[in-house]
Amino acid sequence: MRPAIRQKYVVGNWKMYTNAAEARRLAKAVVDGMNMEERVSVTLCPPFPYLALVGEIIEGSRVALGAQNLYPEKEGAFTGEVSPTMLLDLGCKYVILGHSERRHKLGESDAFINQKVKVALAAGLDVILCVGETLEQRKTNQTEALLDRQLTLGLADVPADSLMGLSIAYEPVWAIGNLEHHATPQQAQDAHAVIRHRFGEMFGEKSAQTISVQYGGSVKPDNAGALFCRDGVDGALIGGASLHADQFLAIVRAAISMSQTQENTADTAA
Ligand code: PEP
Repeated sequence: MRPAIRQKYVVGNWKMYTNAAEARRLAKAVVDGMNMEERVSVTLCPPFPYLALVGEIIEGSRVALGAQNLYPEKEGAFTGEVSPTMLLDLGCKYVILGHSERRHKLGESDAFINQKVKVALAAGLDVILCVGETLEQRKTNQTEALLDRQLTLGLADVPADSLMGLSIAYEPVWAIGNLEHHATPQQAQDAHAVIRHRFGEMFGEKSAQTISVQYGGSVKPDNAGALFCRDGVDGALIGGASLHADQFLAIVRAAISMSQTQENTADTAA
């Protein structure tokens, strides 16, 4: 039987960087550097104020638009917040939820993230749910328990029929934006296996085999290939390197090449 080929992702999280001119330039450089390759889903997540202008630039291309956050209400008196409907209106397909910077710098709880996940999926957005341990948690062997908790609480009461719109990003907090501490490909593979296992317990083995798990944490052109060839690593969520079109495109090419290899291997095994 042909092994399951999961959707591969390369997602650029621009965080609170760029201005309008830079956002325009960066999006255009990414679109110009892409061909019509369909193996890998490529997404740009600019800051809210630049979603519309990036959306115009990528229109008709293979690049999708994503947001970095949302507020879990359709509309209302929520000053400064942005609803799922507004994101859809701007052409967003994806939304990143539970990013460690929102968990740790802005104090978002698992329960609040869970609310956002359910509302986003119900609205028709595809959710990239971020999970990952701090350095302290890793050092004290709490990684597995932490991933278990973030998945259990973050995905509580998510209907099974909305799982098609979900992917997970494993982002060890200690590896994000950190040139000194990198997750090794083996550490990423091991954590992805823990995530897939827990996902299987929650939603069944078939869902565990089809859910895509991206890795995030200082992915660069020189380490992307080694990560992508690991079992269960289905792409990457990129922060710093996504602000440089050449680096981002090099990572996209690494994902395409790995995806091609996996398809050839699956064809041979079938
Ligand atoms: C991120 O912001 O999700 C991220 C992984 O950042 P970086 O690639 O800079 O570590």
